Amino acid sequence: MRIVVLVITFFLSILPVGDAAAERFALQAGTQWETYGCIADSGQAGPAVLILGGVHGNEPAGAAAAEKVCGFSPILGKIVVVPQVNSLGLKGQVRYLPEIGDMNRVYPPQGENTPAEQMGMEIIRLMQRQNITMLIDLHEARTFHRLDATSLGQTLLFANNGVSAELAMDTVDAVNRGISEDVRKFALVGHPIRTSSAWYAGKYLGIAAFTVETSAQQPLEDRVEQHLAIVRELLTDGGWLRR
Ligand SMILES: [Zn+2]
Repeated sequence: MRIVVLVITFFLSILPVGDAAAERFALQAGTQWETYGCIADSGQAGPAVLILGGVHGNEPAGAAAAEKVCGFSPILGKIVVVPQVNSLGLKGQVRYLPEIGDMNRVYPPQGENTPAEQMGMEIIRLMQRQNITMLIDLHEARTFHRLDATSLGQTLLFANNGVSAELAMDTVDAVNRGISEDVRKFALVGHPIRTSSAWYAGKYLGIAAFTVETSAQQPLEDRVEQHLAIVRELLTDGGWLRR
């Protein structure tokens, strides 16, 4: 038995680091709203970041961007991604189904009765199990905040703690350098909404946490690229990716 373990350990040790496909796992397995997550593991000790996409089903850019992050190769720690938190909403292209509930207003859940509350609880357990030190939740809004202050399009909301504020300022500065049109530049306008995942992570876990909001008044591929630009910048600042 010991020899088998040694042989397996040897073969695992010679696998190329970073090339392995991301490990997949299921959330709410066996339910209609089951979804999957992926873990890109560097194989090196280090922090874990959680990235959520598709929490609202009518906001597809975050889901598409998060799926691409599953293919990233971190240089340390782990990148954990749940690309389609609200899989049924994404299929129906609606923010959420009434019988499921809003999956970004359940942190912490008041009970575990609705599917949204069950998913919220499972994501909180995932945050604890992976001991995450950063949360990035990818969303979209109706239009550009710079044209209509009632909309959050092209904003980065940061949790109400020092580490989030500093990273948010650095990130927006860096990402905006690559955006020529003023209206498309990202603004820092405040903190994540109460009972959202980023609000919870900042307040109860005391970690860096962000809600990214792109404006839906742009081609999908531009919105996906903008999400990825912000994610790459945050992951680089956090040490997961090489600059
Ligand atoms: Zn949203």
